Amino acid sequence: MSKIAIYPGSFDPITNGHVDVIRRAACLFDKVIVAVLSNVDKQNMFTVSERLALIKASTADIPRLEYDSFDGLLVDYAAQKKVTAIVRGLRVVSDFDYEFQMAMTNRQIAPQLETVFLMTDAKYSFLSSSLVRQLAQFHGTINQFVPGVVAQALEKKFRG
Ligand code: ADP
Repeated sequence: MSKIAIYPGSFDPITNGHVDVIRRAACLFDKVIVAVLSNVDKQNMFTVSERLALIKASTADIPRLEYDSFDGLLVDYAAQKKVTAIVRGLRVVSDFDYEFQMAMTNRQIAPQLETVFLMTDAKYSFLSSSLVRQLAQFHGTINQFVPGVVAQALEKKFRG
């Protein structure tokens, strides 16, 4: 049976930290579905299709990826896609509380679904989409934090 994982997230926008996690996950599974959560409650900078396009362009060299978006419960989406595991990235200790709570809740609802945590590269341990958005808003340098296409998209957003 092929082992399929989902890497869910807001990816608003995708950062080098996300790309690092995707690259690691692609080595572990037969297929990784990078799935953008289209959460209507959340104020996002990029639309779901913009976020998907940026993810695709940023991960074009990584094999065995699939791209999708979903709303509603992650466990329902995972069941529909017949996945083995959910992949989440862990940065600093502060991620742990929330991720632990989510993983435990998901296990209660769907016991067969494992959550796999991948540790980010140390150089991305402080990096988040919100930090990148703030920097871009005030025209800070973001080139070292995000793929080139994302830097261009942010620049375009905040130009003028
Ligand atoms: P969410 O809104 O679901 O937290 P994000 O797009 O912020 O979505 O993050 C998706 C996943 O990627 C989460 O598991 C998050 O912890 C992880 N992640 C975010 N930034 C990094 C990073 N710099 N290094 C490793 N993992 C990260």
